[in-house]
Amino acid sequence: MRPLLPAVPKPLQSWWKQERQDAPRSARQRRMLLLLVVLTGLLIALLARHLGKELLLLALLLAGLLVSRIILMLDRRRQLLVQARQERRTAGRIRQTSRDLDAMLQQLGMQPDSFERGEIKFKMSQLTSRMEWLLQSARSLALLDALTQLPNRRHFIEQVQIELARAKRGRKRFAVLFIDVDKFKAINDTYGHATGDRALMAVSQRLKTTIRAGDFLSRLGGDEFAVLMDLSAIQNPSEQTLKAHAHLFACRIMAMFEELADLGSVSIDISISIGVSVVDPDSSDPEAILRQSDVAMDLAKHQQHARVAVFDVATTKGSYDDYQLYADLRDAVRSGGLSMAFQPVVDGEQGLRGVEALARWHHPSRGFIAPDVFITMAERYRMMRELGDYLFQASLDGFLELRQALSNPALRLSTNISPSQLGDPQLQVRLLGMLERSGVDPALVTLEITEVSILERTTTSEANLQALRQAGIELSLDDFGTGYSSLNLINTLQPNEIKIDRSFVLALHDDPYARQIVEVIAGMSTQMALHLVAEGVEDEATFRVLRELGIQYFQGYWFSKPLPVADLAARYGAAPKPTSP
Ligand code: C2E
Ligand code: MG
Ligand code: MG
Repeated sequence: MRPLLPAVPKPLQSWWKQERQDAPRSARQRRMLLLLVVLTGLLIALLARHLGKELLLLALLLAGLLVSRIILMLDRRRQLLVQARQERRTAGRIRQTSRDLDAMLQQLGMQPDSFERGEIKFKMSQLTSRMEWLLQSARSLALLDALTQLPNRRHFIEQVQIELARAKRGRKRFAVLFIDVDKFKAINDTYGHATGDRALMAVSQRLKTTIRAGDFLSRLGGDEFAVLMDLSAIQNPSEQTLKAHAHLFACRIMAMFEELADLGSVSIDISISIGVSVVDPDSSDPEAILRQSDVAMDLAKHQQHARVAVFDVATTKGSYDDYQLYADLRDAVRSGGLSMAFQPVVDGEQGLRGVEALARWHHPSRGFIAPDVFITMAERYRMMRELGDYLFQASLDGFLELRQALSNPALRLSTNISPSQLGDPQLQVRLLGMLERSGVDPALVTLEITEVSILERTTTSEANLQALRQAGIELSLDDFGTGYSSLNLINTLQPNEIKIDRSFVLALHDDPYARQIVEVIAGMSTQMALHLVAEGVEDEATFRVLRELGIQYFQGYWFSKPLPVADLAARYGAAPKPTSP
């Protein structure tokens, strides 16, 4: 790479060399000068004896002139020497800066060759202002929502922090309004994403016209907005008055949504739900404050008569408990407090075909919490993405451990995916990424999807399923028979496997209808060449009947309950084909 500046020019270099050699010569000259002055003095003294007064004065004058000229000459020489030294240092610094700049430009992917020496200063100032601009844009990008240009969630949290500090100094009370667009997913699915975006712009526009000076509006993400409402002007700031004011303000916002929104090609009815929480000046966690209004918003959504709800620990007791549990779950996910149990899936000879990974959470004070409970809760609080990733990774980790312990490279892994995970456009990328990093072959993995997830089919879930299928992952229709459109779903999802819901299996002996259903499903899957798994096999008699009906794979307490990796490894490592549980 050519350096930004050429080396110090040759003439300057040789001049400097000369100067270095000259330095001792100038010292010699100084000694010569002294000798000259002494000799001149002696000459004057000699002349003074023979010359007249006038001539002596003339000679003295000449000698004075000569000495002052020599002093000036020496001084100038000294200045030149100092200047040369400075130039040398500067050239060194410029060369260093040039090298640094070259390295920086290369990191930025720019070509140093495009710089002319004379342009450096100009280019440097250009570069500096460009970097300032980049930094500024990066900051505004980090704090602004790209679609609506409203402050984003991060900015909102920062603002809440500022307001909390003011509230602590006794100067301010405020409320947080959590606003959620009702059925936004349906708008997106029905009219497409461009119209969905226009709907969000319309919401943002209406909210902008309602908020007052001092309020702070933000788009938290997706179809969620929040307003930080300034309550400092309230005369009698009792909790009840503050709540009443915040509630009234929320109703005023609601009123803005009575008219149809004109979105260009269509006019649609956009409705919203609002959760309000008046902020306790002693609180210090902006996320917790936001969650309180989220809990209230959730309540508002489920109310029949009104779409506004105010957070109140007493009236939202159920939700608050739930919210506490949610907060605990979030902490458990972040601190690695959940684990995976694995339940064997066996063939007709009771040989181990694979395992199903099932999430386990032992709450520090409430004990065992069933996965149905916390997964539904995670769905409601929109944290399924974080939890789902955690569980999938934990499934892979446990599976690898088990496979190694059992020395069984053909062992299969089944893992459950919940409805909202399928609606996440990035799901496929993340799951396939985790699979790749773990080294588990996607062809050994089955994703279990319930009928409910498929009923909420969207283009996103469709794309996810297709990409995962293409990567070699198999799909299983879990809890089959519990939904209403089971048969249709087989056509649309084209699963590799069907899992008969355990309610049919458990009722097999007592309920003729259950047996009929199992028979029909068994016949159908044989025709369609689908693998069939029966879950909930609790005794040997059921196992035999199911086997006679043509079912290939089985899962249930009779073979093994879901167990931690070590227990399962010990069980199957010691006796690969158990005959009793
Ligand atoms: P599922 O996927 O249908 O899992 C099978 C459930 O049946 C498990 O309940 C299992 O313990 C239970 N089971 C297995 N054999 C028998 C039996 O012989 N008798 C009876 N009575 N039950 C049996 P579990 O572990 O409580 O899981 C419940 C549901 O929670 C799962 O149903 C699944 O839908 C969901 N779930 C569990 N782990 C995860 C996970 O990691 N991610 C997601 N998205 N969902 C999960
Ligand atoms: Mg399952
Ligand atoms: Mg199931």
